Amino acid sequence: MAIIIEGAKLIDGTGQIIEDASIAIKGNRISVVQSGHSIPHTDDDFLIEASGRIVMPGLIDLHVHPSGLDVKASSAYLALRFARNVKAMLDGGVTTVRICGTPDLIDFEVRKAAYAGLVESPRMFTCGKGLCITGGHLASLGIGIEVDSTDSYRKAARTLIKNGVDFIKLSSDSLTKYARPTVEEMKAAINEAHLANKTVATHAGSPQAIMDAIEAGTDTIEHGFLIAEEPDQVLDVMVKKNIYYVPTLYVRRWNVRKDNRYSDEILQQVKHGLEEHPKSFRLAVDAGVKIAMGSDEGGIQGSPYGENAYELELMVANGMSENDAIIASTKTAAEALRMGGILGSIEEGKLADLLVLDADPLKDIRSLQSRELLHAVIRNGSIASGTVLSENS
Ligand SMILES: [Zn+2]
Repeated sequence: MAIIIEGAKLIDGTGQIIEDASIAIKGNRISVVQSGHSIPHTDDDFLIEASGRIVMPGLIDLHVHPSGLDVKASSAYLALRFARNVKAMLDGGVTTVRICGTPDLIDFEVRKAAYAGLVESPRMFTCGKGLCITGGHLASLGIGIEVDSTDSYRKAARTLIKNGVDFIKLSSDSLTKYARPTVEEMKAAINEAHLANKTVATHAGSPQAIMDAIEAGTDTIEHGFLIAEEPDQVLDVMVKKNIYYVPTLYVRRWNVRKDNRYSDEILQQVKHGLEEHPKSFRLAVDAGVKIAMGSDEGGIQGSPYGENAYELELMVANGMSENDAIIASTKTAAEALRMGGILGSIEEGKLADLLVLDADPLKDIRSLQSRELLHAVIRNGSIASGTVLSENS
């Protein structure tokens, strides 16, 4: 049985748009992409009549924390919440997530459960916990391993790789303002990651933290709140070294006043970062930095789940075109995962992760946030969610 989608407007993720396209999916791959209605099919095939509908690649969110950050909750509770939240993301059109820090190896366990068919989820790329200095904020949030010295960074990275991580998460600054890892410490972990063919994502807010992480060899910069303080130097290096910027504009939902885990001084610092954040993003767009979508959903206390597509609304509100926001959330995000050969666009031979929509996100990017307008979420060649399921049941 194949899935045949006929007569759609295709936004293929590479920037190309084809009016009246047809797509065939066989197994977990896209087997045909062509213009016109002429794909032959049999009664066994599942036909999606898509005239007036839009097809685009499934969203890829490079920065989520599906367990939430809650140091008081038990592992069992966090695992259940994780499973519920990855399903919410899938229902919201996200077919791949990179999970940027989870307590207690829960991400590995839920990934196992997903492979066994116990949990429905997007494709998951996991890192276990991130590495940070003693007193670093990742550790205080329950998602960090405290390490100091190059030897312990190296050892911790090797242990994570032994445990089966897909990438390594680092933090090159911390909410304590003063203490940061050295370039040499980060380099020790990053070298191990690269030797094992893993990428490295580094939380970095300030210009110095970003520059240090890049000098140490990171592949992506997460957040970049304060790029606007020294944009010329930072953006120049990001462009020259092909660093992916994962902006996480969604963290503006953080209600600075209501979070009582931090001192007044740190809250002021956070507030300042959030104020500079949209400006930093705009400057990065203008400079031509490679931007890949990441929302940081779950990284903010009390934030909802499955609203990842809100990040695209913020990207467009802050200076990106609708099509560029979609490319950042599909093709470029796949490239940042080093999965550009099989994920992130609708092309023959690629894995079949795609969305069939009842409204055009190029006209209104906010339509991606509506469950009613999400006709089908196809992940790995199967219909995983969408209104098409209730119509056919
Ligand atoms: Zn995060």
